[in-house]
Amino acid sequence: TLNQHVADLNGQINVSFEFFPPKNEKMEETLWSSIHRLKTLNPKFVSVTYGANSGERERTHSVVKNIKQKTGLEAAPHLTGIDATPEQLKEIAQDYWNNGIRRIVALRGDIPAGYTKTPFYASDLVALLRSVADFDISVAAYPEVHPEAKSAQADLINLKRKIDAGANHVITQFFFDIDNYLRFRDRCASIGIDAEIVPGILPVTNFKQLQRMAALTNVKIPNWLAVNYEGLDEDQTTRNLVAASVALDMVRVLSREGVKDFHFYTLNRSELTYAICHILGVRPK
Ligand code: FAD
Repeated sequence: TLNQHVADLNGQINVSFEFFPPKNEKMEETLWSSIHRLKTLNPKFVSVTYGANSGERERTHSVVKNIKQKTGLEAAPHLTGIDATPEQLKEIAQDYWNNGIRRIVALRGDIPAGYTKTPFYASDLVALLRSVADFDISVAAYPEVHPEAKSAQADLINLKRKIDAGANHVITQFFFDIDNYLRFRDRCASIGIDAEIVPGILPVTNFKQLQRMAALTNVKIPNWLAVNYEGLDEDQTTRNLVAASVALDMVRVLSREGVKDFHFYTLNRSELTYAICHILGVRPK
């Protein structure tokens, strides 16, 4: 029964929250109020994304250090090898380590238009980080296959390569096809990946933006999802309720399938993520 299910989940679920560096003062206020609200849920860690241009990169460094210093939360910067030399990456990693940062989300990064340098793959970055210090390292996985991968199998082998290079956590791209995620999780296990395949959960408050993101990332938008957002282009309130309801259904089914860790793409807002966690039994102590 639903009663039993809620009781079973209580205290069993770990959550982490992803933020992006704010671009102006107003966004900075929103970010900090979200961080303070979500902090009460005792996340395992929070992470901050890393952009393709240098201004945003500096902001990632400072937001991460501030979160760590002001809240005591475990704050994990995302880091990419775009436009940086191995020496610069080592310096960044060492600086993080010296500031008490112990977890990093290691990525190749999206290749900017016109970029001609040889890509520094995530597996290369994981090995580089391992050579600097004993970080906890998360890497990205793609249940629906990374758009540039030669095949699903090649992409899976790449994930294994990242683990073999020293990564110990996996976070997925957002998705809506749960059966596909479960098959992907099985395939990861069958190739010897024993890290949890932590689902990345995106509460969809802006369906039009999702359509653009989905096209770029190779993530399928199922028909049921599109139907849910029909006629709501001008209705943010209802879209938010739909977003919470869809994400909740997903985490409920996933948790029944034994998923214990969830990573939320918060888009720097706390309301929906907070409500979803509350219903999952993740609450202030
Ligand atoms: P990789 O694992 O290096 O793989 C990239 C592609 O290259 C894959 O298709 C892979 O199969 C292929 N490949 C890998 N190694 C080789 C090889 N040796 N030879 C040939 N092909 C190879 N982007 C940002 O810019 N900033 C962020 O903060 C950020 N955060 C993210 C967080 C999560 C949880 C996720 C899922 C993605 C994030 N991204 C971010 C996006 C990510 O950078 C892109 O998806 C990027 O295109 C791939 O990064 P990766 O780390 O998965 O790359």
